[in-house]
Amino acid sequence: MTDYQNLFEQDRAHFMHPSTHAHDHASGALPGKIITGASGVHIRDHQGREYLDAFAGLYCVNIGYGRTEVADAIYKQAKELAYYHTYVGHSSEAIIELSSRIIDWAPEGMKKVYYGLSGSDANETQIKLVRYYNNVLGRPLKKKIISRQRGYHGSGIMTGSLTGLASFHQHFDLPAADIKHAACPHFYKAPAGMDEAAFVRHCAEGLEKLILAEGADTVAAFIGEPVMGTGGIIVPPKGYWQAIQAVLDKYDILLIADEVVCAFGRLGDKMGSQRYGMKPDLMTTAKGLTSAYAPLSAVIVGDKVWSVIDSASTRDGAMGHGWTYSGHPICAAAALANLDILERENITANAAEVGSYLNAQLRQTFEGHPLVGEVRGDGMLAALEFMADKDARTPFDPALKVGPKVSAACLERGMIARAMPHGDILGFAPPLVLTKAQADEVVGIAKAAVDAVANDVL
Ligand code: PMP
Repeated sequence: MTDYQNLFEQDRAHFMHPSTHAHDHASGALPGKIITGASGVHIRDHQGREYLDAFAGLYCVNIGYGRTEVADAIYKQAKELAYYHTYVGHSSEAIIELSSRIIDWAPEGMKKVYYGLSGSDANETQIKLVRYYNNVLGRPLKKKIISRQRGYHGSGIMTGSLTGLASFHQHFDLPAADIKHAACPHFYKAPAGMDEAAFVRHCAEGLEKLILAEGADTVAAFIGEPVMGTGGIIVPPKGYWQAIQAVLDKYDILLIADEVVCAFGRLGDKMGSQRYGMKPDLMTTAKGLTSAYAPLSAVIVGDKVWSVIDSASTRDGAMGHGWTYSGHPICAAAALANLDILERENITANAAEVGSYLNAQLRQTFEGHPLVGEVRGDGMLAALEFMADKDARTPFDPALKVGPKVSAACLERGMIARAMPHGDILGFAPPLVLTKAQADEVVGIAKAAVDAVANDVL
């Protein structure tokens, strides 16, 4: 029998966890969990308790847990060729095939794929590509990147700067100077009396003002998630991306679509860019590319940027940018097996159908609920935002921890739904293989949890 008591002690002694309250973990105040197994949409902990994982890990296990087909592909690749680098033109069969498959999934105009291991390193690559592009074009001042308040793009120095959440800046002297933040497109929080179309204009005009204040010749790129994830699952208002795109085109500013969450079916379309009519110059993908069976990210480079990189090399030589594990064959094999499953089982269509069912059930159940201010979502992404006063849209005192309490109440009832880090928001991002019956279970557990917390705080 595994001695879990001893394992927990070792965990507290030596494992520095990401995004974890250091003292609560070390003292044991934070209960923690050792996850021992998983299958389908369920995970199991050290006590043998099962949970419906309505957040797919961190919105990444899109094909569900326990797919032996992916494990077999990883094993086969590891036996044949576990690793060779991809510098100076070296390749493996898996990474060559994967690159074509990713371009097939991407919208028109995408040309090349650059690999890393995480969403953060992929966005770091994007920042370098944007700088390189403008330096080659002889525009050394055009370097600033605009992201959005509450956008999430990673937690490195530059990518953490792109992230528009205060906790990622505090104590790290961020954001870095070249990163600016435009408004979050959350219509629910729009100034009173503004309709959706007016709010879209307001966002686009705000962006244009910011560009002009900085100087258009200093702004290189705009980065955004088609639907914001970690900032609170925020669905853009109708026409938002078209209005933003028009401003970017006017000032020759590149669009980077950060599709780390949205790509590979999560919104019920191949990628979020297709769903929202975005025409990105560069795309960032990760999570759903392998469904997290192995770490892999892919920067997808469009024709416009690629042609500049291509022509620059005849003058400047190879670009000085590479990771040891760029294009790792084992990760590529995992991605290929994942894409096989996504395509064969029509999982994107399931995400569209069950996602819209889940969203409809959430709206029906919670729109009149006294604790719930807004129900929102798209595809297999959804959120409930809790308000102290629904009519006045007044949030709760953060000290009450209403969001975390609802998340904990879900956990007690056997479901993982995430308390998002900004405001009192409960997020859902289940595996894309969720069935309608499981969607009913998600809504049922959420209802019991929200009712229980409402009894406490209202
Ligand atoms: N971009 C987006 C949109 C994300 O959601 C995330 C992670 N949640 C990242 C980038 C960073 O990815 P990673 O944690 O793999 O570095």
